[in-house]
Amino acid sequence: MRAALAAAPEDVIVFDLAGIEAQFTALTEELPGLSVRFAMKACPVDGVLLRLAELGSGFDAASPREIEQAIATGVPLERIHYGNTIKSDRDIAAAHRLGVRDFATDSLEDVAAIAVHAPGSRVFCRLATDGYGALWGLSRKFGCSAADAVRVLEAARQAGLTPAGLSVHVGSQQMTSEAWRRAFETLADVIVTLNGRGILLDHVNLGGGLPALGYADRQGRRLDPPVDKIFTVIREGMQQLGEASESPLRFVMEPGRHLVADHGAIRAHVSRLTTRGQLDGERENWLYLSCGKFNGLYEMDGVRYRLVFPTHAGTGTEHVPAVIAGPTCDSDDAYGSDPVPVPRDAASGDPVWIFACGAYATGYMTQGFNGFSPLPHTLIDERA
Ligand SMILES: *Cc1c(COP(=O)(O)O)cnc(C)c1O
Repeated sequence: MRAALAAAPEDVIVFDLAGIEAQFTALTEELPGLSVRFAMKACPVDGVLLRLAELGSGFDAASPREIEQAIATGVPLERIHYGNTIKSDRDIAAAHRLGVRDFATDSLEDVAAIAVHAPGSRVFCRLATDGYGALWGLSRKFGCSAADAVRVLEAARQAGLTPAGLSVHVGSQQMTSEAWRRAFETLADVIVTLNGRGILLDHVNLGGGLPALGYADRQGRRLDPPVDKIFTVIREGMQQLGEASESPLRFVMEPGRHLVADHGAIRAHVSRLTTRGQLDGERENWLYLSCGKFNGLYEMDGVRYRLVFPTHAGTGTEHVPAVIAGPTCDSDDAYGSDPVPVPRDAASGDPVWIFACGAYATGYMTQGFNGFSPLPHTLIDERA
């Protein structure tokens, strides 16, 4: 990765396919028997999707266009599901025409639409979670209560659909194993209730939320998610659900961030390091980079990435605290107000390497806000 960043003459985001492959393999070894459906929005890059497809991954798609992109990798249609609970009649019909037969849902309105526009399909109902413990909670907008999930899947059966499963998403970059434990408890309760009403599921979808390891928090402290504990809780939870269910269950998971975040890095450059007197009389250093929220670092207001200044790597380098920001005329395009140590003599044009930014980077780049173009990407394969 460092060699690729060092060799880049211009700004670029680099994805390491061998790293992504190793991450995928480690996940499937941690959770035997699990089918992975990569959440495409985390990295909708054809070369990355193709590698995952070759490894046996399927795809969690959220729109007809994502479904088309997933199909183009050559995976069988059974490995693609429509994982978005939000879809118009037209979206459902398009997905059905493309051959998708598995749909996420969380409401009676959506089930009724699926019954009309994708008749005979299979549905899985997303249970709401509170997002506690996650950096991005994903609560309220998606999922329904346990009581509603029973109604929704009963309505699905009545409408000629197959009530096939349940899903959860514990929130993105979930930092606790407790959130998983609670999700499994809710799933077990709902499965038992459904079984009592004669609804036998064939799978449970554990969603996304597995953390990346390379971030710091907004104060610059390294995030240290308890991944081993999380995997233990998930293994135990799968076992318990299998025992609670009257029908055999398959397990599916839709990781996004966990598979790609730590295997993408950006080569950016210093736009300018400045010192300005603020209205309160403080003098502040600001380091403006060529990349920010609108061209590769969409999540920079939630996490901090490790920055390396390769042309200032010597031990004698003097540092000054500076607020980090992107290049656009938008005040959201910044790291918040906590300063980060940067080389005192960082000059315009100096390269900057930004690590662990492989997730939610490419899809979130604007078309060129303020004239700052989306970053091109390159793929490396460190095995080769
Ligand atoms: C975004 C998303 C994911 C992936 O979440 P991560 O936290 O990146 O793993 C999985 N499933 C659904 C339905 C999503 O919307």
